[in-house]
Amino acid sequence: MTADATPRSDFIRDKIEKDNASGKFGGRVATRFPPEPNGYLHIGHAKSICLNFGIARDFGGVCHLRMDDTNPTTEDVEYVDAIVRDVKWLGFDWGEHQYFASDYYPYLYDGAVRLIEKGLAYVCDLTLDEVRKTRGTIKEAGTPSPYRSRSVAESLDLLARMKKGEFAEGSHTLRAKIDMASPNLKMRDPLMYRIKHAHHYRTGDTWHIYPIYDWAHCLSDAKERITHSICTLEFENNRELYDWYLNAVDAPWKPGQTEFARLNLSYTVMSKRKLLELVESKLVSGWDDPRMPTLAGFRRRGFTPASIRSFCDKIGVARADNTVDVALLEYAIREDLNTTAPRVMAVLKPVKVVIDNYPADQSEEFEAPYLPDDPTKLGARKVPFCRELYIERDDFMEVPAKKFHRLAPGAEVRLRWAYLITCRSVVKDAAGEITEIHCSYDPATRGGNTPDGRKVKGTIHWVSARHAFNAEVRLYDRLFKDEKPGDAPEGTPLAALLNPRALEVVKDAKLEPSLVAAAAGQNIQFERLGYFFVDPVDSKPGKPVFNRTVPLKDAWARIVKAEGAAAPAG
Ligand code: ATP
Ligand code: MG
Repeated sequence: MTADATPRSDFIRDKIEKDNASGKFGGRVATRFPPEPNGYLHIGHAKSICLNFGIARDFGGVCHLRMDDTNPTTEDVEYVDAIVRDVKWLGFDWGEHQYFASDYYPYLYDGAVRLIEKGLAYVCDLTLDEVRKTRGTIKEAGTPSPYRSRSVAESLDLLARMKKGEFAEGSHTLRAKIDMASPNLKMRDPLMYRIKHAHHYRTGDTWHIYPIYDWAHCLSDAKERITHSICTLEFENNRELYDWYLNAVDAPWKPGQTEFARLNLSYTVMSKRKLLELVESKLVSGWDDPRMPTLAGFRRRGFTPASIRSFCDKIGVARADNTVDVALLEYAIREDLNTTAPRVMAVLKPVKVVIDNYPADQSEEFEAPYLPDDPTKLGARKVPFCRELYIERDDFMEVPAKKFHRLAPGAEVRLRWAYLITCRSVVKDAAGEITEIHCSYDPATRGGNTPDGRKVKGTIHWVSARHAFNAEVRLYDRLFKDEKPGDAPEGTPLAALLNPRALEVVKDAKLEPSLVAAAAGQNIQFERLGYFFVDPVDSKPGKPVFNRTVPLKDAWARIVKAEGAAAPAG
C-alpha cells in the first residue's frame, strides 16, 4: 500500500512530536474521529479520518471512533451503521474503541451539577432569542442575564426538574457563568444544556435536556483520555471554552485542541444539510448515488479506498483554508487503477462496420492481455472477431476534420489487437444517418502489425457484432456545474446548481463477451473511454451494469471550452 508507506510531516505531527519529547501526555497519543450520526460521511470527513487514524498509526497510538450524538432530532442508527461501514472501508480500525457521546449523558450531567455548585453555571429563563440578543457584539459587551445571580440551590433544583421534563422547550437553559464582556463571544455565558422533549435513537425518552456541542465535546475527550483533539478551523474560538470547561470541572485528564483547515472541493458541496436535501428531494437516488461526494457514493462509483487515502496524502494538512481541485481526486483514482484495472473493449455509441472481404461464416479470436504494459500481471482473454463489428460513431467522420486520424472514407486505421481496415463506402438511412460503414481488411496485418512497416496513426476499439452483448452503462460526471456551488446565494434551489450532464444512461452499449462474467464490485477500464465499475446494487449474475468512475482524460475542460465557444459574444 504505497499510500501508507510514505512518511508524512505536517504541523500537527510536528506538534505531537514536541509533546512526546516534552512528555506532555506521558508520550501517549490518542486521537478520535467524532462524527455526528446525522448523515453519511463525505470526502471532507475522509481527510479528518486519514489524519486522526493516520496519526495514531504513525505514533503507535490509538484513534477512537466516537458518535457525537447529542441531538435527538437529527440522529439515527442508519447513520451510525453507515459511518462504521465507511470508516472500515477506508481501511481504518478502532479496535474496541467505539464510543457514543450519548453514553456519557449521566457523566455530563454530573459535571453540570458540579459547575453549578462551584458557582460557575446557572439556569437561565431567557428565551434563546433573548440570549442571542443580549450576547453583545465584537465591539460591545453583552448584557448579563437577570438570572445570573440565581442561587446555587435554585439552579440545582431547576436543572433537576428540567431533566425530568417538567418544563416546556425553550423555557430554561443551563449556562456557564464566565464573562459577558469577554472579547471572545463564545465565552459570554455559553449554553450548556437546552430542553428537548424528543426521542433519542439510543437513550429513548430518558432525557429531556441535551448537552450543547462545546460542553459535550471536551468532556467526552477528557473521559476517553484523548491527547490531541483535532478539529476544523471554525472551532478556533471554541478552544478557549474547551479549556475553560476542563478546568472548571477539574478534569483529571486535559486534552488539547488543535485546528486544521477543512477540505473544500471544487464542484462539490460538503454540507451535510445540503447533501441531506439532495437525498430527501430525490435529486439523487440516495446517499450512495455515485454522483454524491459521500464515501458511499464514491465507493459505488468505483473509487478505491487506496485512491481516497492517496488523495488525502496529496492534499496534506495545513491551517490555511483553500479549495482543492476535484481533478486531483480524479487523478488519484486514475493513478491507482492504471496498474490494476484490466483493460477491455466496449462500444458505447455504436455504428456497424462491415468488412466486405472477410467471409461471412468465418470468425477468429485474438489473445489480448488485460494489462498490455505488464502482460503477465493479469493474464489475457480471447477477443472474437468476425465480418460485422461495432465501433464508436465518433470514431468515424465522413468529412474528416484536420488531425482526425481515425476512420474516414479512404482512410486506414488499426483495430486494436486485430487488423488494419480501410473504409470503402457508407450506407445511410432515409434521414441521412450512417447505418453501415463498409471496409476492407488487410489479412497481412493480423494482430495489428504492419509487416511492410507502413505507418497508421489511428487505433480504435471495436467489438464483434455477433459476439457482443448489450449492457447498461451509466456515465457519471460532476454533480454541480459551478466550481463553487457552496458560494451560491442563500436560497438558491440546489436543483438550479446541478450539472444536467451528471448522469447519462446508455441502455445498450455493446460489450466484448468476456465482460458477461464481470463480477459486481470490479474495477475495469474500457479502452479509450475511462474506468468503470460493476455496480454492486443493480448488477445481476450474467447481467452486469457499469458505472463510469472517471473518464481517461479530463473531458470536462473540453465541455466547458465548447460551451464557452458556443455562448453568444459579449
Ligand atoms: P455538522 O457538524 O454541521 O453536522 P460536520 O461536517 O462538522 O457537520 P461532523 O459529523 O460533526 O460533521 O464531522 C465529524 C468530523 O469530521 C469533525 O471532527 C469535523 O471536523 C470533520 N470534518 C467535517 N467536515 C470536514 C471537512 N470538510 N474537512 C475536514 N474535516 C471535516
Ligand atoms: Mg460537526
